Amino acid sequence: MSDLRTVVIAGAAGRMGQALLKAVVATEGLCVVGAIERSSSPALGKDVGTIAGLEPLGIAITADIGAALEGAEALLDFTTPASSVALAHETAARGMVHVIGTTGCSAEDEAAFLAAAEAGARIVKAGNFSLGVNLLVELTKKAAEVLGPDWDAEIVEMHHNRKVDAPSGTALMLGKAIAEGRQTSFKDKTVMAREGHTGPRQKGTIGFATLRGGNVIGEHSVYLVGPNERIELTHKAQDRALFADGAVRAALWARNKPKGYYQMADVLGF
Ligand code: NAD
Repeated sequence: MSDLRTVVIAGAAGRMGQALLKAVVATEGLCVVGAIERSSSPALGKDVGTIAGLEPLGIAITADIGAALEGAEALLDFTTPASSVALAHETAARGMVHVIGTTGCSAEDEAAFLAAAEAGARIVKAGNFSLGVNLLVELTKKAAEVLGPDWDAEIVEMHHNRKVDAPSGTALMLGKAIAEGRQTSFKDKTVMAREGHTGPRQKGTIGFATLRGGNVIGEHSVYLVGPNERIELTHKAQDRALFADGAVRAALWARNKPKGYYQMADVLGF
């Protein structure tokens, strides 16, 4: 594939699905050719443009994955872990670009994505498709490397009240960046929540705090706390368009890449 023109959106009636549709429509040369939703979605049969508040595009939202992917080159998928795994089997079989923004995926899900990439899909998966957040991850890694485990590391995230997974995919990316910068194990050092008589903070751990409320799109802060000073690194998303624009950028980047599993850092050249 030397070019990319035809795009399908999964989770087309969702918050990100609508933002993705607008981003694709606004990108010269790209065309939406399919829109997928879960089989119980009230949006089935409706025009994907109308659902997103645009002019009708003549594309009806469907639960028929095979029909939606027919002849398409890329799939933009911000849905659920189970849906993304099922869709990865389909994109692998077709050698498609598959941009996955779904968060809350298990280790088994991740293994399924790697297998799909091995089998033929060009997967770009990221817990966050924004340039700013991916830069924040790099800055966090560098800061953790320089400061070491003597500086306590805490990650605070806030999202809207309909988010179903916690901590956010982005908070986990930031935690992994701290572990990487310190050359330590992420799995062994994380404290995902605190309650009751926790005892003093264990040196070298990476703490998480999760806030949910209103329609907050996504806010993340990394606190690096030394004995007499504190560094705070913060990112605030102001519009879902930024994730959608990043996902479109990832799809365009992947069009000439061989099958494989890529991350946003690869797309951005970090
Ligand atoms: P949402 O609930 O508004 O949308 C998800 C959509 O997926 C819904 O319309 C739902 O009906 C649909 N869906 C569920 N199962 C499906 C299936 N089997 N087939 C097709 N469609 C199916 O949620 P959202 O806010 O749009 O977020 C979606 C996902 O994207 C979440 O995991 C969220 O955390 C993640 N997200 C990632 C980024 C990023 O940059 N990586 C940014 C924002 C959100």
